[in-house]
Amino acid sequence: MPGEGPARARVVFVGEGPGRQEDATGRPFVGRAGQLLDALLQHAGLARSDVYITNVLKDRAATPGSPPRDRAPAPAEVRACAPWLVAQLRLIRPRIIVTLGRHSLDAFLPGLRIADVHGRPQRRDGRTILPLYHPSYALHNPAVRPILFRDVRALRALMRGRASR
Ligand code: URA
Repeated sequence: MPGEGPARARVVFVGEGPGRQEDATGRPFVGRAGQLLDALLQHAGLARSDVYITNVLKDRAATPGSPPRDRAPAPAEVRACAPWLVAQLRLIRPRIIVTLGRHSLDAFLPGLRIADVHGRPQRRDGRTILPLYHPSYALHNPAVRPILFRDVRALRALMRGRASR
């Protein structure tokens, strides 16, 4: 599941990996986490159609059994999918990358802890990385929800920062 959005998006959101509904529909963030992501985008003054949304993993990571359950990506899976993510970012050339959750943060800024850097833009190689908690984490931990809404507001200031790409 590659992701979706404008090929020239200024902002790219990178989640962890497709879940059951994303796997079934071929679209990123269409389940409950997706509804929360839509609300976050709106809070930041953006529409879904303004941004590109993708994942670290391009295929669903699930436990065997019935029903299969979503699980954290294995390091080998992240490595196997990395060339696609790199190629996507090379084509889109976003000014801002928003990482959703610790696995996405780890793919861009290994060694940083999400508890330390969430909501704090990080400048790297001419682009800005904004680490956010994963919407699913906020669904399971309601106390994180207001933090996520506060953190995403940083996007407004970043978007205002420079008008051109
Ligand atoms: N969670 C993710 O990390 N990505 C999706 O696409 C959906 C849920």
